[in-house]
Amino acid sequence: MSRKFFVGGNWKCNGTQASIAELCSAWKESTDNGAKYEGKPVDIVIGAPTLFAMSTASLLPSGFAVSLQNCWTGGMGAYTGEIAAEMLKDAGIEWVITGHSERRTLMHENDEIVAEKTKYALSQGLSVIACIGEKLEEREAGETMNVNTRQLAAIAAQVEDWSRVVIAYEPVWAIGTGKVATPEQAQEVHASLRAWLSDNVSTEVAAATRIIYGGSVKPKNANDLASQADIDGFLVGGASLKPDFVEVIDAYNMK
Ligand code: PEP
Repeated sequence: MSRKFFVGGNWKCNGTQASIAELCSAWKESTDNGAKYEGKPVDIVIGAPTLFAMSTASLLPSGFAVSLQNCWTGGMGAYTGEIAAEMLKDAGIEWVITGHSERRTLMHENDEIVAEKTKYALSQGLSVIACIGEKLEEREAGETMNVNTRQLAAIAAQVEDWSRVVIAYEPVWAIGTGKVATPEQAQEVHASLRAWLSDNVSTEVAAATRIIYGGSVKPKNANDLASQADIDGFLVGGASLKPDFVEVIDAYNMK
């Protein structure tokens, strides 16, 4: 089964109104305002900072969607500082990232919180980029698949409609470090995650679900990673803040 390539950007806590306008205008110019990707087998979703998400949506090239990088575990109410899935829907934002390693580590979000956020976002009709990944010490201790399948199992237990879920495998040791996983290292984990989905959810879900890689993806390594059978796209941090991010999107041509 062919899976539509998926390229997500994650701007994290970066950007001003001026820098975002400048970046979007560079992308508009280099993509003929998105016409370059019209009808092409690639989804492009940009994780903007919450405050600028709506203005980013109006500045991006046509066909580029916006995501938030986080949302609350439940609905609206007395939760100071939080953003509810209903608000994203109301603002026309269809995507949210859950379980990013920075939120797991810095904001102490455990598997249960990530699963709860994923479940609620899906229940409100959002699509979710759910992130998992092992730390360096876990990889070195031979725990890579134990950690990833534990994190995936917590999410999977809450998912009914897999057509709105993209799994992002992001080894923590590769995020923001410039130390990218080799295509073979990434492929090995992606294939194991797909096998886990096949054994624990269904063969159909395993065949159809996009499993994307994140961790120091750049124009110079994107094609090699994309050439692997089970790598269905990317979640890109630092390199998504640059005009040449479009070269990462172009890696869909490797499929
Ligand atoms: C990320 O933020 O999800 C990420 C993969 O960052 P970077 O591409 O900078 O490693």
